Amino acid sequence: MAEILDGKEVAARLTEELIMRAENLKSRGVVPKLAIVRVGERVSDVKYEQSAAKKCAKIGIEVELFHLGGEASQEEVLRTIETVNRDGSIHGCLIFRPFPEGFDDALIRSKLDPDKDVDGITNGSLSGVFTGTRTGYTPCTADACMRILEHYGYGLEGKNVVVIGASLVVGRPLGLMFLTREATVSLCHIKTRDVKRYCDNADIIVSAVGHAGLVTRDMVKPGQTVIDVGINVNKEGKLCGDVDFDGVSKIVDAITPVPRGVGSVTTSVLAMHTIEAAEAARV
Ligand code: NAD
Repeated sequence: MAEILDGKEVAARLTEELIMRAENLKSRGVVPKLAIVRVGERVSDVKYEQSAAKKCAKIGIEVELFHLGGEASQEEVLRTIETVNRDGSIHGCLIFRPFPEGFDDALIRSKLDPDKDVDGITNGSLSGVFTGTRTGYTPCTADACMRILEHYGYGLEGKNVVVIGASLVVGRPLGLMFLTREATVSLCHIKTRDVKRYCDNADIIVSAVGHAGLVTRDMVKPGQTVIDVGINVNKEGKLCGDVDFDGVSKIVDAITPVPRGVGSVTTSVLAMHTIEAAEAARV
């Protein structure tokens, strides 16, 4: 049976440290504050918002919610971002995407103040991921995967890593972050022929697709570590990842579960970036 890489444990460690940093900021008169911009009522967004708000409350980060109805226009979203940018008491901003059809994602992303871009959505932040330099913040989910590996002492240098899923939100930045750590990276996506062939040679397999049962026991080997980013609901209505946990965990060396895996760490990383933004704004 594989070692379980417990996201809750990683999150608890981070939270402890962040509570102290938030207290430190408050003792200097700064209350860290996160704005959350949401259009519509997508269930996954609402759930993530609730857990982010709960995590922030525990740490001592204020949260201001900017809820726009599902019928909101692009102009309203842009005006909301402008309000967030102008508000000196707000240090970080989380904006839920994808936006409704017809919205210009690149334009909207570009309007957020880079100093408040704690989820790494602006091209400025993403350029830092590309160059491997500390420009802005990394996307929280990708950062959460790295934190889990770090916490459990996995070195990345020279490792063969397969990332399945290449979205701008998770897979693509994560692939580049592994490359920066001198891993050799294969970035697979929907057009990749024979994903299993890439997995054969991997030390670490990350799945960030959103397809339950995508990674099966025949795709993995002993000695491998599996990070499951996917969040899906299975036929029984239960939350699950992309990986067939029961089959795969019997073969590989280590695996993240869903729930209690990457998702548990992501909100802590969001809180950490917000604290960092508040610390930077203070200077
Ligand atoms: P997305 O739909 O934007 O991207 C999916 C990617 O998977 C694409 O690159 C696509 O080419 C690839 N893909 C699709 N089918 C494939 C297949 N059969 N084989 C190989 N690649 C395939 O999704 P996303 O926003 O990147 O999210 C991916 C998953 O991660 C979702 O389940 C989402 O809910 C989850 N997620 C989890 C967290 C977290 O904190 N745990 C955060 C964000 C997203």
